[in-house]
Amino acid sequence: MEDQLATPKHLQKPEFAELVSLGDPTGVGYANTHPPSQWLPEFFFGQLAGNAKTYISLLSTLEKRKRLPQPIALYAKALFDYYSSEPGATLLNQIYQRSVTKTTDNTYGALKRADLLRKHILDPGAEHRTKKRRSPSKTTTGEKTGRNTPHAITSHVDQQLEVEEDVAAEQDELQENDINITPLEHLSCEEWNVDGSCVMCLCMDYQLAATAALRSGTLLKANTADYAILAGVFVPFSATALMKNVFSSSTLKAIRKNVSISAPDVDIDDSVVQTAIRLHANGQHDDAAVHLQNLKNMRMLQLFGTALSNLPLRPIEVSEETLITNYVSPLLRTFTHYPSEEIIAHFPNTASTTQVTLNIKPDRPDFKVAWEDTEIAFGEVTGMAQKSDKRKNGWDLWRLLRFGKAALEAGAASVPLVQVVYDLGTIWNMCTPVRGLYIAIEIGPFMMPTHLYAVGGLQASLAPLLWLQVSSIRLD
Ligand SMILES: [Zn+2]
Repeated sequence: MEDQLATPKHLQKPEFAELVSLGDPTGVGYANTHPPSQWLPEFFFGQLAGNAKTYISLLSTLEKRKRLPQPIALYAKALFDYYSSEPGATLLNQIYQRSVTKTTDNTYGALKRADLLRKHILDPGAEHRTKKRRSPSKTTTGEKTGRNTPHAITSHVDQQLEVEEDVAAEQDELQENDINITPLEHLSCEEWNVDGSCVMCLCMDYQLAATAALRSGTLLKANTADYAILAGVFVPFSATALMKNVFSSSTLKAIRKNVSISAPDVDIDDSVVQTAIRLHANGQHDDAAVHLQNLKNMRMLQLFGTALSNLPLRPIEVSEETLITNYVSPLLRTFTHYPSEEIIAHFPNTASTTQVTLNIKPDRPDFKVAWEDTEIAFGEVTGMAQKSDKRKNGWDLWRLLRFGKAALEAGAASVPLVQVVYDLGTIWNMCTPVRGLYIAIEIGPFMMPTHLYAVGGLQASLAPLLWLQVSSIRLD
């Protein structure tokens, strides 16, 4: 029985099947990894590789490739000519529709989302024209009040409130040139499926919602994840209201579990550090130093020895620079500085070389680890004064994600990131779980001791730091 919805017999050319293999790329996406026998739309749609438009554009690109072996080029042209013709196009759509219903497919939804997203991001015109911009110039507010004379008194009060809100909003609100929007898209919903949901589709919905928020001026610097997704970076560990609108809490939980990385076990005698803290607090510094020798591990000895002899009994006010020099630097160096391996921890005052190389607007990290000329890890530090400034800390995390994304684009498989907000640090790992999506995975928090007794907290939270040591340095 002949299938009514199939490529006509004369265009089915199984004999070409083996002509193109993985080792002989055509230079054209799908066709690179699929032999000509699978260039038929039945296969193409069956593999969730795209829609009718994608298919035609594949053929048209193939047809124009000058370097294809002649029989292959002729075959591509024959397919293109037929499926661009009127009866061909009709058949193509029918084959596509069948594949969509057959798989009750979420690919169709995915492609529709991608289209919608592209429209939103690349052609925001309509929304822009109707939207009331939050004005840097306050005159619009004034004019409006003038027109609303019957309500002049209440309007005046409203106007005051509105102006105050505007000032706060302007500090927090993101402008479009703060973020490079990178539209997410994917060809298949099979790539990363968690609990029956396509994570990429959800991320696209989330990006769409964040784009709308950016355009309406409601995207805030405090909500890092919401602008990270605009740049294609997903931060499921830092859920925002917007994210929770798109992802159910169980899906979010499953995604976190899916990507989470367990930090190594800590093999250190708790009592040694506790005793040394007590001795220091008593002023018995030499005894403390002798007692610490029981730690055996040279780096741990160095870490706790430095911390205990550097830290005051109570937190004292220090600038961000002093915090970095006296506290953060010795701590992070313990886990990342291996000069004999040419792995160097830097607290540089220079732009990221990776960003410079990639021609991305460069920024200066507070901390970075470089292996020879390659930047392999980054850190940002916030001082005591701005500890509670959610905007500043959100923006720091964003800068870290930018460094990480650039390093991944430059070829790294994963990039550790460290954010220190005065006395609390967080370690992240960035990688690309599926093509086109970047993800920041929280490894865990650690205590950044700013006074003697807090060293106990550091000791209790060493696991993420040991992960940092193992993963950025790949040494034991
Ligand atoms: Zn999908």
